[in-house]
Amino acid sequence: MVKRSAGGGEVQFLERLRSRIRLPKGGQTVAGIGDDCAIFRPRGSSEDLLFTTDLLLENVHFTRETHRPEELGWKALARGLSDIAAMGGEPRFCLLSLALASWNGAAWVDRFYEGVLALAARESTPLVGGDLAHAERFGCDIVVCGAVPWGKALRRDGARAGDLIYVSGVLGGSALGLAQGRRSGAWRRHACPEPRLELGRFLRTDLKATAAMDLSDGLSLDLHRLCLASGLRARIEMPPVFAGASGEQALHGGEDYELLFTARPSVRVPSTFGGLPLTRIGTMHRGRPGAVELDGRPLPALGYDHLRQS
Ligand SMILES: [Mg+2]
Repeated sequence: MVKRSAGGGEVQFLERLRSRIRLPKGGQTVAGIGDDCAIFRPRGSSEDLLFTTDLLLENVHFTRETHRPEELGWKALARGLSDIAAMGGEPRFCLLSLALASWNGAAWVDRFYEGVLALAARESTPLVGGDLAHAERFGCDIVVCGAVPWGKALRRDGARAGDLIYVSGVLGGSALGLAQGRRSGAWRRHACPEPRLELGRFLRTDLKATAAMDLSDGLSLDLHRLCLASGLRARIEMPPVFAGASGEQALHGGEDYELLFTARPSVRVPSTFGGLPLTRIGTMHRGRPGAVELDGRPLPALGYDHLRQS
């Protein structure tokens, strides 16, 4: 399920798609394809609305043998909430569509919703709609709507040369958990990720982060994307690694759902937030957009890319 790729496939596809779409001039869609969420500005409102959608598919993101239904429900919503966190937003509601396979009995589906609804209740994100269909394999799509004060959404394209680069938490735990299976201490990191909503709001209100995104596909690929969006390159050192995980898993593993962000060098970033470490890993520089160097050597964007041939 963890595919290795040389980056670029999804980035190029989205670039092509984006070039075919004209957002109406002076319209209310402030940001379209290319960030963690689209941003919509209702007329006369003091808030911008955030929208994100995420697929969770059998045999792509999970297998029926390894994952419990309540874990999958939790994770489906956590992935959407993580995109809201990445923009510094507050979730408002969610919509969930399911494609049920013949092996998904009523009890399985009940437990799946248990996972969704537990996280939805904790994060005050009511489930307000969705769709149901049958398919050969299970799949679901979560849509989360969030909100952020007018013009204050954290985006990927706001980093400036000289900004310092930070990550929250420790990386590689999800890839380690997936590799070792459910008896591993790292399994929870893979199966029940924590959306960093409070941290996202802190980045917006207190640190005035210049750019942010969530780490869904691996630091190497996600930082490459942030650099491309901001038109800059990055030089980093090794990020903090989850105990027992490899450097490879921390750099390329994906699904950690930690936050990657940049801040002006004058900003004092605390070493922890709510017990979660915040670690400075590097600096943004002018140069070839998207290029990332680790300890002075080019770091290939090897994270998870669905559009690369495996
Ligand atoms: Mg994201």
